[in-house]
Amino acid sequence: WPNSRIAVVTGGNKGIGFEVCRQLASYGITVVLTARDETRGAEAVERLRALGVTDVIFHQLEITDASSITTLVDFLEARFGKLDILVNNAAVVGVEYFKQLDTKKEKFAGLDFYQRIEWMFKNVNERIDGARKSVQTDYYGTKRVTEALLNLLQSSSDGRIVNVSSDFGLLRCISNEEVRQDLNDIDNLTEERLAELLDKFLRDFEAGELEANGWPTGFSAYRVAKAAMNAYTRLLARRHPMLRINCAHPGYVKTDMTMGSGVLTTEEGARNVVKVVLLPEGGQTGKYFAKGEESSFM
Ligand code: NDP
Repeated sequence: WPNSRIAVVTGGNKGIGFEVCRQLASYGITVVLTARDETRGAEAVERLRALGVTDVIFHQLEITDASSITTLVDFLEARFGKLDILVNNAAVVGVEYFKQLDTKKEKFAGLDFYQRIEWMFKNVNERIDGARKSVQTDYYGTKRVTEALLNLLQSSSDGRIVNVSSDFGLLRCISNEEVRQDLNDIDNLTEERLAELLDKFLRDFEAGELEANGWPTGFSAYRVAKAAMNAYTRLLARRHPMLRINCAHPGYVKTDMTMGSGVLTTEEGARNVVKVVLLPEGGQTGKYFAKGEESSFM
């Protein structure tokens, strides 16, 4: 595939990530579908092959595991010597739902969009281990994968990173004025400050002081981790002006993460991500896109 663009998608075995792989391949891009679980990843590639998508290969990637990341980097280096597109899609919400998954349809029956969201909020159980996992995966995992792949992206003539974000990570979700300002002050924000803010969040979580300190409640770690990821995206975009580095909110999508409660299909959600991946050459960088349109980090 000497002339093909090469894309890596994290968490490509299901949901939005799987569909992003399918859509990118349909543009003639060679897709490296990654998944933390070998069996689930290989099965996903088989499903794509059954749909006639052949330009896709599987590689294992657990985004919180440094050695797994290194193995992927070595593979890409040896096979392609560059990377054109990185879609950081993998994430966890880090909450437990009180109700069983198999009763969800019943629970949601007859509820409108807002009632469904309200139901999800009321029925989640956030614990400190889940919160740590969310921060470790959604922020630090994404950051680690990105850092490891930067050299290869810089070997591309048009390197792009799309971090799959969420409107749950918008700054308006954080009422603590100082935190919000720090996350928005891209001229002075550093990775060290981001780490300090996340440590403070987890300490406040453990102490039961989220509300008192102006952090979001309900999917709180997911929100804070995505807000940190958004800020990191902006820092990185400034540091690497030759790359296009953006955030994309797919919309509210029916996947396992939302217990099938979304309003968009995975195809529609993925299209909103792919649109940002395929921005015209020299297009925006360091921006947030909501459902395919440039929007505010606030
Ligand atoms: P799913 O739960 O369906 O898929 C998540 C994917 O991430 C799975 O492939 C999962 O793998 C993978 N993953 C989780 N942790 C890791 C890890 N440590 N290493 C590697 N892979 C991992 O979620 P969605 O498809 O809904 O979400 C995709 C993205 O879209 C996420 O970033 C999410 O935050 C974002 N998003 C989703 C919205 C929605 O409405 N669905 C709304 C806004 C944003 P496995 O199968 O092994 O668990």
